[in-house]
Amino acid sequence: MSTATPGRRRDDVSEPSQHRSLHQTAVEQFQQAANLLDIPEQHRAILSRPKNEVIVNFPVQLDDGSWQMFRGYRIQHNNVLGPFKGGIRFHPDVDLDEVTALAQWMTFKCALVGVPFGGAKGGVTIDPSAYSSDELQRVVRRFTHSLGANIGPEHDIPAPDVGTNSQMMDWLMDTYANMSGAGLRQMVKGVVTGKSIACGGSAGREAATGQGVLYTLRHWCGESGMRLGDLTFSVQGFGNVGSHFARLAAAEGSTMMAVGDHTATIVASSADGIDPNELAAWVQANGGVKGFPGADQANTEDLFSMPVDVFVPAALENQITEDRARALDCQVVLEAANGPTTPEAEAILAERSITVVPDILANAGGVAVSYFEWLQNKSSRYWSIDDVDERLRTIMWDANDAVVEKRRELNCSMREAAYAVALLRLDDVYQRRGIFP
Ligand code: NAD
Repeated sequence: MSTATPGRRRDDVSEPSQHRSLHQTAVEQFQQAANLLDIPEQHRAILSRPKNEVIVNFPVQLDDGSWQMFRGYRIQHNNVLGPFKGGIRFHPDVDLDEVTALAQWMTFKCALVGVPFGGAKGGVTIDPSAYSSDELQRVVRRFTHSLGANIGPEHDIPAPDVGTNSQMMDWLMDTYANMSGAGLRQMVKGVVTGKSIACGGSAGREAATGQGVLYTLRHWCGESGMRLGDLTFSVQGFGNVGSHFARLAAAEGSTMMAVGDHTATIVASSADGIDPNELAAWVQANGGVKGFPGADQANTEDLFSMPVDVFVPAALENQITEDRARALDCQVVLEAANGPTTPEAEAILAERSITVVPDILANAGGVAVSYFEWLQNKSSRYWSIDDVDERLRTIMWDANDAVVEKRRELNCSMREAAYAVALLRLDDVYQRRGIFP
């Protein structure tokens, strides 16, 4: 059934733009899957737009006594499956379009892996490396205060993303607790996930996204007759997700051949590869991979042409462009980052028979363990790392099974199959609940 009435403006998100909107790409991705299914127009229309868009501007005093205005966003895409859920990004390129796309991806990711959350994302337009720890603390606290009742443990639950970490989530939780009434203060730890373990975080949350990427790779190996221990891989981005994935993959016997981040690109000087544990210690001390003595320095584009089995983008959106899609010399692109492949590049990868394992599947381990953290905060009972890992493995395995099965059924790409699984779950709930009023 269509809601479009002739003569009335169509409810369309597309607006004239000089450059491709990331949100538009995100909408097209789910619409492609919807076209393979019988999804009613009104459900597509709801999912094409965020439910709420919160933009805040707030002042923060810097260490030199001056004041700076910051802009922050919280986009709440959909909450039909549960409270809004999604990370907070601190990066100079954060804008409304990017945060809206990221929020939409969260809705589909949660639906795909079956955690009872909706989708949201937040961010502040800031280069965190240019500010002291005290200044960042004031930014986090003032941003949290500005969001006010727009977040909450049963309403909207942030988490870390690019440029944010467990320390910042601790400050967020502390600020929110102090804004709550005295009788509620001990009950609001679940307002944010990705906290330190001391402040109510979950065992395994720090490594969860990388761990989930590894489970997804293991599943792909099973499907394609490969062995994890024989694989070579390259990674773009050596932050939380990239570094944990690399260390876990190396522990299984895979070999890392190249790494790129915002400081440099490095390539292995021999077939033994690059040691991810040594590199992680270097990055911790030096802020990036540049100058790492255990590898050769290279050019940015060398990362994309290095022959490997698996290429793992774990940095930002739109990194795999058409030229890079032509250069990639791998069997599979495992999307640890959100939105790393442009649609044009994806078409080239498909022509070249390079499989793309989509972001909403590959990097869902983070939100899965965020769900575990939220459950642990609710019950004040904390799980062992073995419990967390086993439950994460089950969630990731079931989601991978569902996507592979749907791909066979619809004879489509992995991305379309992942969206199809998620869409059918969302559609089912809309069918049963109806649309208010
Ligand atoms: P992070 O801030 O810890 O690391 C980001 C990495 O990207 C850094 O190594 C940085 O140097 C690199 N980078 C930044 N700009 C770059 C550029 N222009 N070229 C090359 N490298 C660049 O962030 P993260 O938490 O590891 O997130 C990485 C990706 O994974 C993002 O897309 C994020 O949305 C996604 N993700 C993160 C989580 C999580 O739990 N942290 C969960 C799901 C998805």
